[in-house]
Amino acid sequence: MFYTSGWVHVICGCMFCGKTDEMLRLLRRFSIAGRQVILVKPRLDTRTAEATVVSRSGAQHPAVSVDQSRQIEALVSEADIIAIEEGQFFDEGLPEVVERLADAGKQVVVTGLDRDFRGIPFGPMPRLMALADQVTKLTAICMVCGEQATRTQRLIDGQPARADSPLIMVGGMGDESYEARCRLHHEVPSSDAVG
Ligand SMILES: [Zn+2]
Repeated sequence: MFYTSGWVHVICGCMFCGKTDEMLRLLRRFSIAGRQVILVKPRLDTRTAEATVVSRSGAQHPAVSVDQSRQIEALVSEADIIAIEEGQFFDEGLPEVVERLADAGKQVVVTGLDRDFRGIPFGPMPRLMALADQVTKLTAICMVCGEQATRTQRLIDGQPARADSPLIMVGGMGDESYEARCRLHHEVPSSDAVG
């Protein structure tokens, strides 16, 4: 598992598929092997405290928040292993940054949602997956039927969110939630649908 040359590993999937747990498991192994690990995440991710990444199972690791992908290279000079969380929220420069890090001999692990709630490839993830040396695509469990889920269902007040619903919900617009869904049960009403 430990390579002496650069390597890019993308861990992707829908929400609730265990991406963060899988990444933290790999980082623990690298740490045991005595490698220097740094974990970077976009600053807009406010799900957890600024300086920590916490998985849904409770595993955690200290992290550095950055605003833009070009800030990453200056942070990681001492590290052998660079882990990047929530890759889908980074700018389109992330694939080039990751490629340069791997060319410099770094092991790069990137997690991210491969699709947004509409089912559309998310931000820089499709290009990252194309240039990766290794892609791990995880699945979750559909909350409707129990089959394998590959999609993220967005719900507003318990109803499937329309394709044109605002990306960020402001207080008072309704309660937003997410579920893992299979292809059959993933619903995105078009913007002109009634109700
Ligand atoms: Zn289903």
